[in-house]
Amino acid sequence: MIIDCHGHYTTAPKSLEAFRQKQIKGLKDPSLSPAKDSLRISDDELRETIEKAQLRIQRERGTDLTIFSPRAGGMAHHVGNAATSALWSDICNELIHRVCTLFPKNFVGVCQLPQSPGVRPDNCIAELERCVNEYGFIGCNLNPDPSGGYWTEPPLTDKWWYPLYEKMVELDVPAMIHVSSSCNPAFHFTGAHYINGDTTAFMQFISGNLFKDFPTLKFIIPHGGGAVPYHWGRYRGLAQDMGKPSLQEHLMNNVFFDTCVYHQAGIDLLTRVIPADNTLFASEIVGAVKGIDPETGHYYDDTRRYLDAVTTLSPAEKKKIFEDNLYKVYPRFKRRAR
Ligand SMILES: [Zn+2]
Repeated sequence: MIIDCHGHYTTAPKSLEAFRQKQIKGLKDPSLSPAKDSLRISDDELRETIEKAQLRIQRERGTDLTIFSPRAGGMAHHVGNAATSALWSDICNELIHRVCTLFPKNFVGVCQLPQSPGVRPDNCIAELERCVNEYGFIGCNLNPDPSGGYWTEPPLTDKWWYPLYEKMVELDVPAMIHVSSSCNPAFHFTGAHYINGDTTAFMQFISGNLFKDFPTLKFIIPHGGGAVPYHWGRYRGLAQDMGKPSLQEHLMNNVFFDTCVYHQAGIDLLTRVIPADNTLFASEIVGAVKGIDPETGHYYDDTRRYLDAVTTLSPAEKKKIFEDNLYKVYPRFKRRAR
């Protein structure tokens, strides 16, 4: 079985975005704010958007199941306030639940959280509980920078975040560290802000002692860990200079990397540097990078192809990356699959 731990509903019906635009207009003129039930999307519309895109790609590439969450760029936690994010998360998560219900063999849900800049993440607990307990979701996406590129929140190791971590541990769900769109024009969102977010989160984990307080808390750092694997020597050395334990001991029971790296040399490096036990297969379909690589003739985001071509991993190690590690990182998935 091949499980892709990182897919977003980037192909949601256009009426979802129209609702969002009305919601944003309503921030200036509350009389324009749409009611939740004004958004009507039929099961047929959902089916069509999935069958044409994510499901077709699963079939073409021979993957079986995607851990599926709302469009990351669309979370835009910097827009409006906590109430804005609460309604938007409610709607986006419900759509994910409906897709997972329509295609239970192909998709398992992960939720977006109703974060808002400067608002304590305690406000996310109710939505996380709802998505896990009522929808059967198996994780969440946690934005380390709800300001959208200005980094105004405390680092992820700060006690600011602890109430949410306590709930994650209680529910036994991991978080993928995932920033959203950038409203800082210095940072392109998928090309810079995402990679910054991944790299920054890992360095925060090195600097702190979070996993002493939460030995079972788990995070996935997407996009191949940002710049981390490429600079592994720097991070090992920084940990050493700071008097921290080795990275293996300090972080690697708790931090996992996905394989959303869109060229062979990058995947070769990732799989040589990061232990197979800490790597999860992912492609981030549909649409982080859309095109075909003229050097290979294949889609950049067809990451299974790169992993299949890696020569330094044993078949057992590849199976860990494609399937086995998923059960470890997402314990609720294990229970669900059995
Ligand atoms: Zn993503």
